[in-house]
Amino acid sequence: MTLAATGCSSSSKYYDPAKSNRTETGFRNNYPQPERASVWKWQWERLTQGLPKPPANHYQFPVVKPDLAWLKGNRKSPSVTWIGHATALLQIGGKNVLTDPMFSERASPFSFIGPKRKVALPVQIGELPHIDVVVISHNHYDHLDRASVEQLNLQPGGPPLFLVPLGLREWFNDIGITNVREMDWWDKLSMNSLDIYFVPAAHWSARGLLDRSETLWGGWVFRNLKMPATTETAASEQSDAYSVYFAGDTGYSKDFRDIGERFGRFDLALIPIGAYAPRWFMQNQHVDPAQAVQIHEDVRAKRSIGVHWGTFELADEPLDEPPQKLAEALKEAKLPADQFITLQHGQTLKLDE
Ligand code: ZN
Ligand code: ZN
Repeated sequence: MTLAATGCSSSSKYYDPAKSNRTETGFRNNYPQPERASVWKWQWERLTQGLPKPPANHYQFPVVKPDLAWLKGNRKSPSVTWIGHATALLQIGGKNVLTDPMFSERASPFSFIGPKRKVALPVQIGELPHIDVVVISHNHYDHLDRASVEQLNLQPGGPPLFLVPLGLREWFNDIGITNVREMDWWDKLSMNSLDIYFVPAAHWSARGLLDRSETLWGGWVFRNLKMPATTETAASEQSDAYSVYFAGDTGYSKDFRDIGERFGRFDLALIPIGAYAPRWFMQNQHVDPAQAVQIHEDVRAKRSIGVHWGTFELADEPLDEPPQKLAEALKEAKLPADQFITLQHGQTLKLDE
């Protein structure tokens, strides 16, 4: 299916062209969620029950060094390299795109406390190919890391373009990063043959105690058109050479059916599969692997890669559990195991092979 290039003027009943829902108390999700559960009750539970339990491999996850020479030379083949957690290097439409760059040791405002990296980085920022675009899903510390974006901003050859949710530009400007563009849900940005959209997710935002939901959250869509479009009409007749959906951080909602309806299909989706336990606390913000499989189906992805796991211990499940639960969920959904996979840290998937 091709997409009308008019972006915000479609008449689909599945999404609101009025974009995100901004209220006096901050942004809101598109669809109502269960009442927010007590964070103190959860913290008490995990303390008294000694959760999370260590993974069976005692944190010895395989880490592979990406083929940096190939990545640096490649401008033609779409590829994805999982760096860890929600950080991935995506090569699409001749651009190097980095999702939620997190290269620090702790996902926390402090260097001495907060979730610590449990698996080593397969690659440092300075070793990466020149990054053209950085996309940020939201401002939680495991997705927006100050040291990482500062270093990327100083990369040789000039800063990447930082695409950020509404409300986050000021944060970037305050730390001296100016090559920033804020986007609302369903906004589109075109870079030659590559179209990038910001799309809804069911989540929230905060970096401190008093800024809950003041900035937006969401996922990112990348569609590489076969030929650069010259007019809006021409664009509607283009078919994708390759399309990718990065879901960001999210609970389950009808948003994914909306996204599937809007874009028709994706060649690849990057979908979170970790930080889901216990469900009574995490369900509003993080999907479990079965819901990740549902998202894979809702957005009509040909294949998916599970991210947001195996790197930081953010929830109560053991760090190696998400891929096991993913395999069970695929079986349950009667989908082939290779339709939704996980990568090793640092592993590259060449997408046209
Ligand atoms: Zn988050
Ligand atoms: Zn997260």
